[in-house]
Amino acid sequence: MDAVGNVVRAPLIEMFWSIQGEGRHIGEAMGFLRVATCPLRCSYCDTPHSYAASSMFSVDAADGRIEERNPVTALRAAELARMLRPQSHRAVPRLSITGGEPLVFPSFLRDVGALLRRDGWRIHLETAAIDPVALRACVEQVDHLSADYKLPATIGGADHGEAHAECCRIALARGATVDVKVVLTPSCTEASFDAALERLSPFADRVLLVLQPVTPCNLERDPLPQPKLLAMLARAQAANFDVRVLPQAHKALQVP
Ligand code: SF4
Repeated sequence: MDAVGNVVRAPLIEMFWSIQGEGRHIGEAMGFLRVATCPLRCSYCDTPHSYAASSMFSVDAADGRIEERNPVTALRAAELARMLRPQSHRAVPRLSITGGEPLVFPSFLRDVGALLRRDGWRIHLETAAIDPVALRACVEQVDHLSADYKLPATIGGADHGEAHAECCRIALARGATVDVKVVLTPSCTEASFDAALERLSPFADRVLLVLQPVTPCNLERDPLPQPKLLAMLARAQAANFDVRVLPQAHKALQVP
């Protein structure tokens, strides 16, 4: 890290304090930092506003709303994260770095994480997990990885399975907890799901597999038929994964 985290910058969309809507930390209050830009275009994406940065971003601090200029330094982002937390919050402070795709800015993640973790914060990284090189550059500052495993039908046919698996391997080797989320849409094939289970099988006893039936959004117009969901759940259980089926709870909770 540079001396004070004052060199590395990234464009942000927003920072706020809210409720985690996914994975093993579902329901926990924590800070969120949403990085701008994403190289992907998932069919179910509910944050297309994150694809491009504007000149300013908003921070819903505990004492009121702040407007900040982009791109922001890691040092300033860490200061702003501390300002999100309500004074009444007694639990370990956590910051979920999400996007867009945060791994576009690994040095920024590393520096924000280092600045906050020295004060006892825990860093969650919510990522598409398709860039192992970027993850290696910042993983020492990541306590929890939420990896969004993209089945090819949700991403124009591309297959990032090897990169997803390598990102899980890197995070587990560092000692981070790892959730692997798979959004299931009606067009996802059982063959592609089986291929994902096969790639993740070396970590079956060390990751939490979260199956998320799609909430119709963006290009996805229809929900996942329940028989298909149950069939995929059974396949994951048969492959010895610790698996949960969770809806997109942040939508039900009406939080960002
Ligand atoms: S990786 Fe995330 S932000 Fe990027 S297109 Fe997919 S769902 Fe949207």
